[in-house]
Amino acid sequence: MEELSRDDKREFMENLPEIKANERFCFDCHPQVPCFNQCCAELTLPLTPYDIMRLCRHLGMPSQEFLTTYTDMQIIEETGFAMHTLKMNREPGEPCPFVSPVGCQVYENRPSACRAYPLGRGTKLTAEGVAERFFLVHEEHCHGFDEGSQRTPAEWFANQGLAPYNNSNDQYMRLMSLVQASGKPLDQRLQAMSRLCLFHLTSFRQMIEKMRIFAHLELDANRKAMIMEDSLEGDEACLAFAIDWMELVIFGQAEHLKRK
Ligand code: SF4
Ligand code: SF4
Repeated sequence: MEELSRDDKREFMENLPEIKANERFCFDCHPQVPCFNQCCAELTLPLTPYDIMRLCRHLGMPSQEFLTTYTDMQIIEETGFAMHTLKMNREPGEPCPFVSPVGCQVYENRPSACRAYPLGRGTKLTAEGVAERFFLVHEEHCHGFDEGSQRTPAEWFANQGLAPYNNSNDQYMRLMSLVQASGKPLDQRLQAMSRLCLFHLTSFRQMIEKMRIFAHLELDANRKAMIMEDSLEGDEACLAFAIDWMELVIFGQAEHLKRK
């Protein structure tokens, strides 16, 4: 599949039918559908920091090895943040590297976009917080619409376990929106730091210790312990802290993090 530019992607999303938050749609996907696995190929699949954290944990793979093996990376011009996309296998049909005859091999930790499908979720930062809109992707080959349960977007997301993904992705989107609104994309130093903090949690924890970062911040003991814990909850806390930390470093202040 050809790589879409950011403008193309925005236009693609805007051209999809919008579905309201309280509107229901009929959809189900399971191994018995005749199109099983057909959608897991030829994808432009962006991976958020949270997606990458979950996949690294699932595979037991260091983040650097994961990113080199499974992703392509480009820098978003407007912000300077890195965007990783999952590399499809270079073979006929360009399958996702994680698809198998019996389905997704990383199912419990599959990325946000795979969980949300057939919905697209558009978000933007407003004075009241993150506003979301939903779009329905109805592809010809997909038989998921032929049968299934009627659900609203919120019910579908709950069914697919998207809450922790959306929480983290919204926090990251907020940071990127603030940088974009400032009109000052990250310089080389901040680009490198954001890549380390957001995509390499083990290295970020080492940096926390080496630079004694906690000593300069108002953080309660429980949060500090959780950030350093080697567990899924620890990684979630560490990534949330990394996003707050980047906000503090970039802007000199952060909504949820205070210097002493
Ligand atoms: S990660 Fe899993 S669900 Fe997503 S495209 Fe690959 S095989 Fe399909
Ligand atoms: S029903 Fe749709 S989402 Fe499910 S396997 Fe078929 S094409 Fe993919």
